[in-house]
Amino acid sequence: LHKDLINKIADTLKSKGLKKSLVREQILCLILNSESPVSALDILQYFKSQRIDVNKTSVYRELLTLQEEEIITEYDFLDGKKRYEYNKNSHHHHTVCTKCNTVACVEINHDLDFIESQIEKQNDFKINKHYLEFFGICKKCKI
Ligand SMILES: [Zn+2]
Ligand SMILES: [Zn+2]
Ligand SMILES: [Zn+2]
Repeated sequence: LHKDLINKIADTLKSKGLKKSLVREQILCLILNSESPVSALDILQYFKSQRIDVNKTSVYRELLTLQEEEIITEYDFLDGKKRYEYNKNSHHHHTVCTKCNTVACVEINHDLDFIESQIEKQNDFKINKHYLEFFGICKKCKI
């Protein structure tokens, strides 16, 4: 484990008043190391590969806690499994391959402020966030 990563995880947990635990730290480690959102299955497989004995329920419970503390965000890309990503505080979107279900993060310049303010006015609704994901066929599957 990289020292910076360990420190980052320790700082994050401390700032949220959460205790350190092996499961908690390992989940965050995996999520922080990944360039795209990871599923609960990815996490369970990771624990298996690390020969760490952990039950499904505690992984799901942990994911819930980390979401409640706004350390991670849950995404649903409509392929039957939820995925989780560290809250980088950088707003971005995703491409999702509908053949192999590969998800990638994409940074795009967009200006939805105007549209959002229109929606707010027309519907008397305060918008906090939006999700915008792009579905299609990835490079590997195009061939
Ligand atoms: Zn956006
Ligand atoms: Zn694909
Ligand atoms: Zn992302």
